Amino acid sequence: MTDPENEYCDVSLPVPLDHAFTYRLPLTLRHRVKPGCRLLVPFGPRKLTGVALACHDEPPAAQVREALRLLDEEPVLDEELLRLARWVAEYYSAPLGEVLRAMTPLTGEIRRTKRYSLTDAGREAARQLLLGAEGGDPVLEILRMLEARPLTASWLAKKVPGSEKAIRSLLRKKFIEVEDIHADRDPLRAAAARLRVQFSGRPVDVKLKKTERELVAFLELYPGSHNLGTLQDKVKNVSTAARSLARRGLVELRVEGPVMPDEPKRPPHTLNPHQQTAFDELKKAIEFEEFRTYLLQGITGSGKTEVYLRAAESALAVGRGALLLVPEIALTPAVAGQFYHRFGDRVAILHSAFSDRERAEQWRRIRSGDAGVVVGTRSGVFAPVRNLGLIVVDEEQDQSYKQEETPRYNGRDVAIVRAQQAGACVVLGSATPSLESRYNIDRKRYRALSLPERVENRPLPEVEIVDMREEFLATRRQSTFSRTLTSAIQDRLERGEQTMLLLNRRGFSSFVACRACGERIECRDCAVTLTYHRRDRRLLCHYCNYAEPIPSRCPACGSEHINFLGQGSERVEEELRRNFPEARVARLDRDTVTSKRAFEKILYGFRDHAYDILVGTQMIAKGHDIPNVTLVGIVSADVGLGMPDFRAAERTFQLLTQAAGRAGRGDVPGQVIIQTLNPDHYAIRFASGQDYEGFFAKELQFRRLMRYPPFSALANVLVRAEKKENALRLAGELSQVLNPPPPELKTMGPAEAPVPKLKREYRYQMLIKAASRVVLREHLARLRDHALQQRWPPTALVIDVDPLSLL
Ligand code: ADP
Ligand code: ZN
Ligand code: ZN
Repeated sequence: MTDPENEYCDVSLPVPLDHAFTYRLPLTLRHRVKPGCRLLVPFGPRKLTGVALACHDEPPAAQVREALRLLDEEPVLDEELLRLARWVAEYYSAPLGEVLRAMTPLTGEIRRTKRYSLTDAGREAARQLLLGAEGGDPVLEILRMLEARPLTASWLAKKVPGSEKAIRSLLRKKFIEVEDIHADRDPLRAAAARLRVQFSGRPVDVKLKKTERELVAFLELYPGSHNLGTLQDKVKNVSTAARSLARRGLVELRVEGPVMPDEPKRPPHTLNPHQQTAFDELKKAIEFEEFRTYLLQGITGSGKTEVYLRAAESALAVGRGALLLVPEIALTPAVAGQFYHRFGDRVAILHSAFSDRERAEQWRRIRSGDAGVVVGTRSGVFAPVRNLGLIVVDEEQDQSYKQEETPRYNGRDVAIVRAQQAGACVVLGSATPSLESRYNIDRKRYRALSLPERVENRPLPEVEIVDMREEFLATRRQSTFSRTLTSAIQDRLERGEQTMLLLNRRGFSSFVACRACGERIECRDCAVTLTYHRRDRRLLCHYCNYAEPIPSRCPACGSEHINFLGQGSERVEEELRRNFPEARVARLDRDTVTSKRAFEKILYGFRDHAYDILVGTQMIAKGHDIPNVTLVGIVSADVGLGMPDFRAAERTFQLLTQAAGRAGRGDVPGQVIIQTLNPDHYAIRFASGQDYEGFFAKELQFRRLMRYPPFSALANVLVRAEKKENALRLAGELSQVLNPPPPELKTMGPAEAPVPKLKREYRYQMLIKAASRVVLREHLARLRDHALQQRWPPTALVIDVDPLSLL
């Protein structure tokens, strides 16, 4: 309990330093600050939002500054979450303040602006200068306006021409002071798709512009409220017209309630015996309030979702909360949608498509206990669920659980620690578990649950491998589709069944090279080749989005013979249209999915059979359940195999198995065709046999031999700098710190990173394998201390514990 007399407060700030900072609490705050509340404090010339850790009376050694403002009356992070934050900070070698910032959605998601107010000197100056002054001078204008109340930068910019210069001069004279504030976004600035428009009831008797007249005419014709997004193809410039009418009070605009996944409702199923066994076990664990981790390994189409739903029900039944984590709600609407249908009001969905306000609203519903079931993505693991009894991590192997910026945590692993602290039960679900999770069964850390059959005895699809080298020898042509795949697609078209084609690379051709001198065109800022995007007629960097026009001559030798090599999903789509002119083809990748709506339009269009063939990247391999798909073709299984990453085989195996699992989910059995130049690669062989255990055994041998996870604790230490020699020097310093190498540690590098230059920065990396976590942590701390003591720029050192990507 906080002592009302406490004069000081330790505050954790989002800066790359480990320790907390002590502030004096002004009298008005002394009895109100509790650990877990956010405080606004001065930090150097800035004002920062931090999280209070503890209040006390110990006078600090040095002079301290005073906290400015308390942002929450009740803690946003309770004891349990604060403890979890400490664990994340320590385990991932990340500053606590940055972890806390990642955990409090209410700060990160809210826009920051500057607000100006008069100082005492400014008030005095205003009194004197404004006497009898004429309008027009921006400095005086601003003083006059600030006399009434503090105002934001954007407001002043709108009202006073030349405000920026005037503000600078007023700041210099110390007549005004600035404060960073968090402002909720104006809801009416939400995207059109999120707004509804209707008449306000006021008579429209003023003069209107043409587009406004059109909207008014439409609303007269179709009374009621309309989604602004869907009006876009009916009324020209509807957004602008609606906003301008709303400003005059003639129509009302309001933000639509949270978008829920638009999935068909399915009745609860009677569990089949495998599902029943798994569920009984989970129910027991939930009722015993015992921390346990289960790995639910269920082949594709085995009905895992129904087990999750039942488990969540039984948590609610004993008065406990349930948390479901999914890789990406927008890309896998099915699971979230089922939860929404089953639990209605009691479910909160933390969806990235929500506005800040909606997200804050969901967050409060969770905290108050109104929503006992939460569906969220990675950061949902920090949702303030009350009395947590169950955490489900669906597709636990998915890479999107790993945050690729500080703090670089893995939501799945944090979920396990959180469950342990809460005495909850965790279920990791997958058809293709990560090696680490599966190995934890062998080590008796996790318990195994399995759904070895598809529901209703649907058979697994038949898989066939096509060796594209032989295909070339036989046909003497370099073709995208083998004869086998071509005739299989043709069959489906004739039978009115659907096909999915996977190529995990977007764009048209993957690189552009000169035939005369061999030069490959690279990104200006990264050491990677640019990809040709035909529709946009440009070359694009897939790492930093840098784009340039297609050169007519080789930039190195001037030759006109420029070759477009390698294939991407855009080219596959084009060849499909050429080879099957009668087929209706859609493509799903990051180029066609520019919004959630575009994604739904394509996916649901395909589900409703508006298309015969869907081409796409890994996006199409995720858990979609479309019964009429009877053929899945993998255009090239080789895309991921060549990646310089020890997980390349595992990823390929997972992707192929997931994609194959999309076939034959209805009554007609499915067929899968895998085209490859490496038909003997074990990842491809085991995937085609849908033999997880075979793959696991083989891959585990390799990991053991090479001391890769799960046989070591791994960290990737990266240094980056704009100048190559600086990056090299920093890398050298790090290897000095670990010299002589401690015996429990094995380091590789520093060496150029696989992508040696990214976004203008040169990159060197060192992989550290340690026999134990404790050892790893200790040495990472030494590296971090070195960087702090030598005052490295804050972004120069990146420590990635349990890295999932080594690029
Ligand atoms: P998974 O996630 O394991 O691939 P899903 O949970 O998507 O599988 O289930 C596949 C399909 O089977 C869904 O359409 C689901 O509604 C259905 N299903 C689940 N359980 C049963 C059951 N016991 N009986 C019949 N159908 C079921
Ligand atoms: Zn050339
Ligand atoms: Zn780039």
